Amino acid sequence: MINSHWHGDHIRGNQCFKGAVIFSSLATRNKMLEIHPERISDQQASIPQLRKHIKKLETDLARESNPEKKKKVNIQLNFLKEIEKSLPGLEFTLPDLTFEHKMVFTGNSRQAVLQTMGGGHTLCDSFLYLPEEEILFAGDLLFSGTHPNIKDGNPINWLGILQNIKQLSAKVLVPGHGPVSDESAITGMECYLTSLLEMADALHNVEETQIPLRFEAWEAPELFSQNLLFLSQQTFPKNL
Ligand SMILES: [Zn+2]
Repeated sequence: MINSHWHGDHIRGNQCFKGAVIFSSLATRNKMLEIHPERISDQQASIPQLRKHIKKLETDLARESNPEKKKKVNIQLNFLKEIEKSLPGLEFTLPDLTFEHKMVFTGNSRQAVLQTMGGGHTLCDSFLYLPEEEILFAGDLLFSGTHPNIKDGNPINWLGILQNIKQLSAKVLVPGHGPVSDESAITGMECYLTSLLEMADALHNVEETQIPLRFEAWEAPELFSQNLLFLSQQTFPKNL
């Protein structure tokens, strides 16, 4: 079992894999320890407030007639209901074994290479490559057909990592979010990050900025303006 990075949607299932050895990079484990115990206990202490908020959203949803807004509230509601269901029994579970850069698993019939090139999507992102099968499990370094969350990382480093994983020439790419894809998922991600960096550099009003046509059909469109705003506030060079 591998935790590719510290985000809750990638580590909160750890307790279901009792008996399995959980691996992550040392940086990811340290970040999990820094963030999650406090976050989880705060959320567990606020379950009544969460339930109240869910009830309010359900009332809003029943009154809403705009299909776009309805869809948005529904997505939020489904997410919060999952959190509500999981919180009472959630046990924070850390990785058992850590690595710094790379580790190779050699079994009877195949090898698997677990590696990190540092942080892009978060402060440290790991991926797993099966060289014989040419399959890459990319974690959240790849989002396919859905807007990524970029606010915990560094898009410049992210673009550098994508350049490197392209050299693996994997035939099958398994993204952290979205359907299984091929190399086009890397190109899509590069295009997204580059476009947003350019847009952030010339940004006047985030509310008035339209999602570019190429990403218009992507899931989670609410992340677009958040990502753009985040980039416009950063100090790294945005003109590539
Ligand atoms: Zn993530």
